[in-house]
Amino acid sequence: MIHQRSKPYLRVISALLLLSLFFTACGQATNKQTTSMKTDNNTTIQKTEKEWKEQLTPEQYYVLRQKGTERAFTGALLMNKEKGVYKCAACGNELFTDEMKFDSHCGWPSFDKEIAGGKIKTVVDTSYGMRRTEIMCARCGSHLGHVFDDGPTETGLRYCVNSLSLEFVKADNKKESMSNINTNNATANANVDTITLGGGCYWCVEAVYKELDGVIKVESGFSGGKVDNPTYKQVCTGATGHAEVVQVTYDKTKTSLDEILKVFFTVHDPTTLNRQGADVGTQYRSVIFYRDANQKQEARDVIAALEKEKVFNNPIVTEVAPFDKFYIAEDYHQDYYANNKEQPYCQLVIRPKVEKFEKVFKERLKKNKSSL
Ligand SMILES: [Zn+2]
Repeated sequence: MIHQRSKPYLRVISALLLLSLFFTACGQATNKQTTSMKTDNNTTIQKTEKEWKEQLTPEQYYVLRQKGTERAFTGALLMNKEKGVYKCAACGNELFTDEMKFDSHCGWPSFDKEIAGGKIKTVVDTSYGMRRTEIMCARCGSHLGHVFDDGPTETGLRYCVNSLSLEFVKADNKKESMSNINTNNATANANVDTITLGGGCYWCVEAVYKELDGVIKVESGFSGGKVDNPTYKQVCTGATGHAEVVQVTYDKTKTSLDEILKVFFTVHDPTTLNRQGADVGTQYRSVIFYRDANQKQEARDVIAALEKEKVFNNPIVTEVAPFDKFYIAEDYHQDYYANNKEQPYCQLVIRPKVEKFEKVFKERLKKNKSSL
C-alpha cells in the first residue's frame, strides 16, 4: 500500500505542515477551562413549580427553586473528597468533577472550574445590597450558588455551591474493563480493527477521526504508562508515563490502517520529541501503539516512506511501541470539540486542524456529519 502513495499527496502534507506548526499549541494543562457567561434563557427542562415541589425535598426546593442558601458548614458534600462527578440535584446535569473541588474554608463546596460545555449559566445578582454572580444549571434553571473571582488556583475562580444543589456520583472504576470488553467485541469482527495513537492533545486528534469515513468509534484516553486507572490530572503531571491517545476503531472495508496513519501524520507534528507546539511533556509524545505484527510493520513502512520523501524537515521521532492497556479518559474529555465549539481554545487550536484535515481528505469525509 505504502509504495502506491502518490507524491502530490505528500506535497500537500508538506505545504500544510507549516500551517499546522502554527496551530499546534494545546495548552492543555492550563488554559482549557472557560466560564460559561451565557445569560440567555436556554434552559431545556421546564417544569411547573408544583412538579418541582413533588420531585424535590423541601430543603432542596428552597435552595434550587427559591434561590435559598444552606447554612455554612452544614452541607453533606462540603468535606467530600471521593472521586466522582457532581451533578445538578434537580436534573442530573453534570457540573463538576472531584478534580475541580478544593477546600476554600468558606463553608460550602467549592470548585475552581466547571465541566466545559455551557452547563452552567450566570446572572448578575444584586440581592442583599451586594453585587454577585449567581450560577444556575443551564439545563433546568435551578439555583446552584455563586461564582467569585478570588479563587486560589490558576483559574482564579471559586464556584461556591450549595450541597443541596448537587448530587454526587462516585467514579466507576470499571471504566477500563468495560472499554476493553467493547473493543474486544468489536475486533471479533474480521472487518473491524483498532489502533491506538498518540499525537499530542487528544481533543484535536479525536475531532478529526470522527469525520473520517469508515471510523466506527473514537475514544480519548491514556496508554503506555505505569499506573492503573490514571486520572487526567495525574497524566498531566507527566509522572505516570502515559501518553494522551485516541483509540480508533474502524471498518477495514471502508478505510484502512494506511489511511488512518496518513491522517495521523497530517494533523500532528511527529518531529518534536515529547512535545506538540506549546504542550511539553512525555504525555504529548508522538506514538503508535501496535496490536500485532501487521500494524507494527505498516507503521514502520509509513514512517520510512515519509522520511524517504523528506516530507518533514526534521527526523520523525514517532515511537512505535506494543499496545498494552488503554484507559478511557473522564467523560467530559470525550467529544470535547463537538461539545465545546464556542470555546476560544477550540476555535483557535482544534478548528484549524479539523479544517486542514477536511481539505486534504475532502473525498473521505463521512457523508452524514451530524455527529460533529
Ligand atoms: Zn439542572
